[in-house]
Amino acid sequence: MSSALTRDALEAFWMPFTANRQFKNQPRLLARAEGMHYWTPDGRKVLDGCAGLWCVNAGHGRKEITAAVAEQMATLDYAPAFQMGHPVGFELANRLVKLMPGDLDHVFFTNSGSESVDTALKIAVGYHRLTGNASRQRLIGREKGYHGVGFGGISVGGLAGNRKYFDSMLLNTDHLRHTLDLEHNAFTRGLPEWGAHLADDLERLVTLHDASTIAAVIVEPMAGSAGVILPPKGYLQKLRAICDKYGILLIFDEVITGFGRLGTPFGAQYFDVMPDIITTAKGLTNGAIPMGAVFVRKQLYDAFMQGPDGIEFFHGYTYSAHPAACAAGLATQEIYEREGLLTRGAELSKAFEDAVHSLRSAPNVIDVRNLGLVAGIELQSRPGAPIGARGYEALVKCFEKGILIRTTGDTIALSPPLIISTAQIDELVTRLGEVLKTIA
Ligand code: PLP
Repeated sequence: MSSALTRDALEAFWMPFTANRQFKNQPRLLARAEGMHYWTPDGRKVLDGCAGLWCVNAGHGRKEITAAVAEQMATLDYAPAFQMGHPVGFELANRLVKLMPGDLDHVFFTNSGSESVDTALKIAVGYHRLTGNASRQRLIGREKGYHGVGFGGISVGGLAGNRKYFDSMLLNTDHLRHTLDLEHNAFTRGLPEWGAHLADDLERLVTLHDASTIAAVIVEPMAGSAGVILPPKGYLQKLRAICDKYGILLIFDEVITGFGRLGTPFGAQYFDVMPDIITTAKGLTNGAIPMGAVFVRKQLYDAFMQGPDGIEFFHGYTYSAHPAACAAGLATQEIYEREGLLTRGAELSKAFEDAVHSLRSAPNVIDVRNLGLVAGIELQSRPGAPIGARGYEALVKCFEKGILIRTTGDTIALSPPLIISTAQIDELVTRLGEVLKTIA
């Protein structure tokens, strides 16, 4: 075993979204990290091709974040956020809303992307109830969407594996079709030309259910977890227009696209489409401390601030605006601003695009797609083997070869820290290409 831990020592931890038995027989451990790299317990260096899990946007081991968290913990380790407050929570809220487009000027703090999604869905339904539209309770998601693992998130999510055990317990939802279509769009650089009409699915669902039953539509502006699925040109604009036509709220789940991944602070700015709610997490604190945040437009916040004085929204978490997370968030935003990281993806995206498209000729590659500092490399599933067999082999071999990638089924996702150099982009893609040549 390539680690300091015995087989027995690995047993108690039921690992999330992991093939536990496979992993525990052949563990892949990461023990230390700095900059663009991880190190294994036995000292092997691994280039981080996916920013941890799409979250370490400023690279690893940022001393400013460590120092800010340590100082905060020594000053105020915890304070309740229910009917009490602490200065750093307000400071972070004020700083974050300045990054937001339009009047997305209020923020609700959570601890994860899943909590952000469930919070956003509750805000959307609550908003309609408060504004005289109590029948608007249906939530529309999209096939292949990933919105975390809460009951709200799996209900609007579109991945069968996440939903199948809970079928009768899911919320009142329906789903748009996804926008992945290799027949029309394989090997597109950037946004596909074909497919804006898929947004018309929302018209179909309005016809089926009636607009008076629909509270909100939630989509990832660019879907990450299902294997990097891009919106066709004009698709999100069309979705916005149909939402406006029928009084439906539009939620962008920016847990991945938030904080610079596409070369703008948020996907809403990249696509120039204004949603009513944005959910975030991950890059908010550079992955260093768990934290999520939900941004809402002024009219939504205002709708809750009516009626007699009292608690306006019966919702929140013990650790909403945890002081350590807020300190990590502030230090992270400081780094992003000082180093221009929220827009650095735009400078690197062409070099990244050229590099990843060089994999087009590698064995079994049936699509390469990219946007900002994200790429999806889809492999043909191995005939007669379970879906994901080739992807898993790629993951294991890449780790052995010193690069960390992410796979969903047979699609490889790359989303490196935004500090990556062009030489490191070449190194990442060259090594991945070498691995692909060894996979039958
Ligand atoms: N929403 C999106 C778009 C995500 O990509 C993720 C995680 O990858 C989540 C929600 C869930 O976030 P978390 O794992 O922090 O609950």
